Amino acid sequence: MTVIESVSKMQDLCLQQRNDGEVIAFVPTMGALHKGHLKLVEKAQDLGSRVVVSIFVNPTQFLPGEDYEKYPRQFQNDVKLLSPYNVLAVFHPSASSIYGTNFQTMVKAGERSQGLCGARRPGHFDGVLTVVLKLLNIVQPHFLIMGKKDYQQVKVIEKMIEDLNLTTSLVGVDTDRDERGLALSSRNQYLSQEGREKASAFYKALQSVRLKVLRGRTEVKELQESFIEELRTVPEASIEYIEFRTQRTFGLIQINISEPAVCLAAIHFQGVRLIDNIEIG
Ligand code: AMP
Repeated sequence: MTVIESVSKMQDLCLQQRNDGEVIAFVPTMGALHKGHLKLVEKAQDLGSRVVVSIFVNPTQFLPGEDYEKYPRQFQNDVKLLSPYNVLAVFHPSASSIYGTNFQTMVKAGERSQGLCGARRPGHFDGVLTVVLKLLNIVQPHFLIMGKKDYQQVKVIEKMIEDLNLTTSLVGVDTDRDERGLALSSRNQYLSQEGREKASAFYKALQSVRLKVLRGRTEVKELQESFIEELRTVPEASIEYIEFRTQRTFGLIQINISEPAVCLAAIHFQGVRLIDNIEIG
């Protein structure tokens, strides 16, 4: 496993690999790796003959006042965690090598970026799409592996790939959770041990929404109310959103669930913003 910081070196290596007939599977991350990220690496190993992982805390997807500065950076430990895997290269560029001094061109996310996380973080998905497109142009992977924990992100990237005729195949991987069901996230480090235990109520509430739908209770308003009610067991948690979207087009479901859907929610707890989702049908 080699660590590459230079954009041109990374691009040259990947072009060479492609020309040699290798299949490149790519896992973009912001580092502070945990088991969830490693699941993506395993998927990449299954799909490609060469795996590339990037570790880059992307400044353009953070809004002013968000945790860009304090976002956990644990590069040496990340390399250690990746070392048992069959990873060809870890791409670890600096912000200045990605954006230079006179960067002017951003990708603009469309309808799928509206609402949910996009409502609270205007411009966030423009930053995500811009960096993902740049990384795709550098790594030129056959497969792009992403976690469904960031469901809206997957759907926004899926649309960019379709709209801009990109050739990579997007593969979504199910969310990895701790033993109580809390979705693994680099930001869970900001929670206390007790907080992590309490926060597992979040996924339980989503599971119970799913069960209700499967038992025939398909009315959105009623489901939202039951989710709010369930989370009352954690009075410190405040709900930012709880919404239903269709799996196919990611359109908002306002009244009644009648096709495969996904329930997405964000809560604030102990000063940390947690997101999670559950597919239904
Ligand atoms: P991040 O470093 O948070 O940008 O995440 C990098 C990739 O790992 C994204 O595609 C995330 O969706 C994915 N990811 C993060 N947490 C998990 C998890 N608990 N299970 C599966 N994938 C995850």
